[in-house]
Amino acid sequence: MLNQTTSDALFTQAKDLIPGGVNSPVRAFRSVGGTPVFMQSAAGAWLTDVDGNRYVDFINSWGPMILGHAPAVVLDAVRAALPHSLSFGAPTRRESELAQLITEMVPSIEKVRLVNSGTEACMSAIRVARGYTGRSKILKFEGCYHGHADAFLIAAGSGALTLGTPDSAGVTAGVAQDTLTVPYNDLPALQAAVAANPSQIAAIILEPVVGNMGLVVPQEGYLQALRALCTEHGIVLIFDEVMTGFRLAPGGAQELFGIVPDMTTLGKIIGGGLPVGAYGGRADIMNQVAPVGKVYQAGTLSGNPLATAAGLAQLRHLQQHPELYAQLDATTAHLADGSRQIAQELGLNYTVNRVGSMFSLFFTAAPVNNLEDAKQCDLPAFGRYFHAMLERGIYLAPSQFEALFISTAITDELVDKYLTACRESLVEAH
Ligand code: PLP
Repeated sequence: MLNQTTSDALFTQAKDLIPGGVNSPVRAFRSVGGTPVFMQSAAGAWLTDVDGNRYVDFINSWGPMILGHAPAVVLDAVRAALPHSLSFGAPTRRESELAQLITEMVPSIEKVRLVNSGTEACMSAIRVARGYTGRSKILKFEGCYHGHADAFLIAAGSGALTLGTPDSAGVTAGVAQDTLTVPYNDLPALQAAVAANPSQIAAIILEPVVGNMGLVVPQEGYLQALRALCTEHGIVLIFDEVMTGFRLAPGGAQELFGIVPDMTTLGKIIGGGLPVGAYGGRADIMNQVAPVGKVYQAGTLSGNPLATAAGLAQLRHLQQHPELYAQLDATTAHLADGSRQIAQELGLNYTVNRVGSMFSLFFTAAPVNNLEDAKQCDLPAFGRYFHAMLERGIYLAPSQFEALFISTAITDELVDKYLTACRESLVEAH
């Protein structure tokens, strides 16, 4: 048994002060049970908790730590920025440098606005799309998560799904009626929804590869058909690449699948672990944003000097080392294929979905192409597996409805450690 004495005590204190003891619900162990591990420090692939337990990290702060924890290149950039002020509330050179890099790496983004989170990026993007088109409705997909703005908490994924609140209380009926939802990977359902709302849909927003119901892959031709549909109906196509951006390829999922969206939302990796988000796209659309256009969006800490220093350093490193993507792909293939094979050998035939450095082991033998498929998983068995992995020093997301994010710090030796733990934990869980 793990010694969690200090985590237990801190959690007891936190629960008195913070709802559920956590500042983001995905951190709670609600669906798997037990006490969330309170962290003390991290370096490379390893996390150390407040009780001195060490774990290999397969979440990486839900994506941003693609180079592992505390990479020198990012820490040095933050150290260099530190003495010059923590915030100016005025323009800085680095904001343009980061914008330049983003537009270079993701060419569909001609202009970009920096914000502080993925939520802000997505909520701002749909406001801009509404301003641009003069239409009210948006369409999203069941099980996709685009942050916690009201318009997205309808059939939402991630923590909302894990906790059984995909339709959040507190969202007004007025807001909800402007968000249409259809199942992912279901082209006829999408076509029907668009046909039923002629000239009313401002934007279709999606995760081009979904990470928030576990990892779900777009079926052959799906994204192409979606792109064509949006063009035909004058709908702004928004790729939410908060998870996939700069992770699945230097130019994100849109580069990998060869699709050009009208707008893109970003977060996570572009802050290198500090709070940054961004939304951008075609210049004619982005020119709707104040102070040029009439769509208002603002932020006191947007373009923060430390956050831009961290993000710039991380993105530059990725741009200068494209070989890291091949490394991530190979490492993750090894993990994913190995997990599938072990499950098969144990007679479980579980489904493994993977794209680049994201993957999920679903506790079901059926294919997982949408939310309904994901919901068929054996959640109690997943909970037992999660704890068995934790005992063996493997830190996973505490929910079946999340993907694993692999960092460049995962070595072959750590892949072997993971696979050994995976075999033992699957046996223990069944
Ligand atoms: N969009 C996607 C695809 C996400 O996965 C997330 C968060 O995980 C968000 C948006 C919201 O980002 P944030 O948590 O930074 O607000």
